Amino acid sequence: MSFEGTTISGKLPRRIRRLEELAYNFWWSWHREARDLFKMLDYTLWRTTSHNPVQMLLEIEPERLAEVASDPLFLRLYDAVVIALDADLTNGHLWFPRKYPDLTDRPVAYFSAEFGLHRSLPLYSGGLGVLAGDHCKEASDLGLPFVAVGFLYEMGYFRQRITPDGWQEASYPHFEPQEVAIRLAPCGEDRMLFVPVQLNDQTVHLKVWQVQVGHAHLYLMDADNERNAPWERELTSRLYGGDQEMRIRQEIVLGIGGIRVIRELGIDPLAYHLNEGHSAFLVLERARELVEAGHSFAEAREQIGATTLFTTHTPVPAGHDVFHYHLIEKYFQDYWPRLGLNREEFLELGHHENDRHGFNMTALALRMCGRRNAVSDLHGRVSRRMWQSLWPEREEHEVPIDHVTNGIHVPSWIGGATHRLYRKHLSPDWIERHDDRTLWERILDVPDESLWEAHAHLKEKLMTFMRERSRRRRMEGSMTPEQVLCSGAFLDPDALTVGFARRFATYKRATLLFHDMERLKGLLHDRYRPVQFIFAGKAHPADDAGKRLLQHVYHTAKDPAAGGRIAFIDDYDMQVARYLVQGVDVWLNTPIRPHEASGTSGQKAALNGIPNLSVLDGWWAEGYNGANGWAIAPGEEYTQQAGQDGADARALYDLLELEVVPLFYERDADDVPRGWVRVMKEAIRTAVPTFCMRRMVKEYTEKFYVPSARRTEEME
Ligand SMILES: *Cc1c(COP(=O)(O)O)cnc(C)c1O
Repeated sequence: MSFEGTTISGKLPRRIRRLEELAYNFWWSWHREARDLFKMLDYTLWRTTSHNPVQMLLEIEPERLAEVASDPLFLRLYDAVVIALDADLTNGHLWFPRKYPDLTDRPVAYFSAEFGLHRSLPLYSGGLGVLAGDHCKEASDLGLPFVAVGFLYEMGYFRQRITPDGWQEASYPHFEPQEVAIRLAPCGEDRMLFVPVQLNDQTVHLKVWQVQVGHAHLYLMDADNERNAPWERELTSRLYGGDQEMRIRQEIVLGIGGIRVIRELGIDPLAYHLNEGHSAFLVLERARELVEAGHSFAEAREQIGATTLFTTHTPVPAGHDVFHYHLIEKYFQDYWPRLGLNREEFLELGHHENDRHGFNMTALALRMCGRRNAVSDLHGRVSRRMWQSLWPEREEHEVPIDHVTNGIHVPSWIGGATHRLYRKHLSPDWIERHDDRTLWERILDVPDESLWEAHAHLKEKLMTFMRERSRRRRMEGSMTPEQVLCSGAFLDPDALTVGFARRFATYKRATLLFHDMERLKGLLHDRYRPVQFIFAGKAHPADDAGKRLLQHVYHTAKDPAAGGRIAFIDDYDMQVARYLVQGVDVWLNTPIRPHEASGTSGQKAALNGIPNLSVLDGWWAEGYNGANGWAIAPGEEYTQQAGQDGADARALYDLLELEVVPLFYERDADDVPRGWVRVMKEAIRTAVPTFCMRRMVKEYTEKFYVPSARRTEEME
């Protein structure tokens, strides 16, 4: 079969045969030289495949391969990249093996319903998935032994198209496993690995794929195979698709199937990490193993508690999965006896006072996992309040939910121009040292002109990207001339550009900016100091309220009164995000506080010197210091949402009119906005070392993974 790699390896000249290994390891995606290598190989293919090296190697002409195999320039880069890859794969010199040499044999196992590694593998819907992908990459960079488990959704998350009337349409492009960097998981004697999971009276067989992320492995379960009945094969076809029953079946597969997969692969983790409650059933499967090995349920529970971490991401009660008891009954009535529990004892594990008829997955995870965390300081406080009823004997501040603030994987989100600037002025090895605070003090030494120039370059790239995208959409016939008006083709590279891109969930209040259209028009059409806005984002296909919000944004953008100064980029994904967080001037976020658990897109912007203008929620409540951006924080607190919206909107207009716009347009004789550049530098200095994935994974390691690993060793 072609996806065994034979087609590619058969055509690669010996001298460059490791191109295949490089293409199949997402390591290339966050190493600039590796990306340059594929660009050099064939720039046209690089672009037409949307940066997918596996597809490139399948499509490339053998003559071109022969040519580069004797091109000294290409070979020099090739050798350097292969040496760098090998160094990272034999990772003894990295942080974790140096610090914990006795804990390198067995991994941390990480479970998540979504993973955002790269555009070519669309297994994510938003921040949760991108965070999981970034976590895998950083685990590799730090040398942390790490395996992750998730799903291969054949249809991934949907692609978005906007009708002329502003309505979101979803399409699911056909996914060709042969053309992306995934392979069947290795299994004894090269057989395919199939893992059975019982779903009520049927057995579903999961085919297992493997993705290489540096030295970390991601295993993806896939029900779309010939061993399953046709209606079972759709079980893993979509991310968060279907009804409650589909969802519980997916979560049984993720939790129970996920544990069986790592057992089949012979992986014996030292610690387990649940990224959100979707995988919480895994604690039950581990309990079953222990009970069937002779332990009591209480002993099993203690052991699981000591070695398992649960990260909650959702600060609103409605965001947590609650399954009706009849579904639990249907899928678990044969299961609870195997745990030594009766029905009541079992249902008690998922009990929460607000859900009288349902089994709450977060409650299950919080009860069974002895280590728990929220994803920002504020979210920690909210979570302790929200879940206090699980610990009735404790004060709110004593509820055992800690926090680790989210971060971003710096090599994945840095722009080319900012990277070159930091390399020149901070240190040639700044990437390796990016969580070192003292390094970032040197940002003050970077000449203002250089930072401003690097930024202008990235802004220009964003504008070109948007223009080319509209041209293509128009040519394909998927955009009317009228839609071109709001596609970004008319944006002015010199005007102050504000970016807003995220899921269209109602709490994110994408339309807050339109609260007072007269004030907004004043900003857009100021003759000397115009402001323009770029929006992007998807609404969940089943969320009509989200789609209506998007439509409101789209109508406003398309209105000739906006004069092309409000743009909407369709089909937001990691690639669009990269352009935006590197190329706008200001990053806007207007959530209803405290509904943004952390948020990470603003961290990506700050990394590239783009200040945040945001409600003091999530990470920004910790990140804002008065000089590194702006806080939308009206003095008054409202009990009614409409009142709060009005006050937040007024605070936003005030900030734009009185502070942001004047500072941006205040130029010296060299046309450099000195005051603005000062804010940019302060954004970089304060955000990068603190809100990076490196700080985050180190914190997870020291607070949770290492103590769990030590307990595992003690107990065995
Ligand atoms: C970073 C990122 C997110 C997360 O952004 P928020 O700040 O949480 O809204 C969502 N989607 C994509 C594609 C991203 O790259």
